[in-house]
Amino acid sequence: MPDDASACLNCGACCAHFRVSFPYLEAAARNLPESDLVPVSPHLVCFNGTQSHPVRCTHLDGTVGHQVSCRIYHQRPHPCREVSPGDDQCRKARAAHGLTWPPS
Ligand code: SF4
Ligand code: SF4
Repeated sequence: MPDDASACLNCGACCAHFRVSFPYLEAAARNLPESDLVPVSPHLVCFNGTQSHPVRCTHLDGTVGHQVSCRIYHQRPHPCREVSPGDDQCRKARAAHGLTWPPS
């Protein structure tokens, strides 16, 4: 879920489609609780809930495609910030949840 995107508040598809992995050092720098992290490699972790199907980040609140929020919005790591509404990743995630772009 990126910055300042009103469409995202009614979506959350990217939080329920991709594995959200990032360096352990980033998790530590952002003060993310270790209990929410799953090891991916010696240096990478991912958010619990995004390592297997059906994917749903442990930090996502609400119902995908209706109303959602991120419980750690200000601490979220770089993969969450990189997807932009309407970009390829966004469209792929939305399509997987039966959501078109632009939102109807
Ligand atoms: S899939 Fe797109 S619209 Fe939906 S939350 Fe992610 S960036 Fe926002
Ligand atoms: S941390 Fe927040 S923005 Fe990132 S995937 Fe999880 S719910 Fe989405």
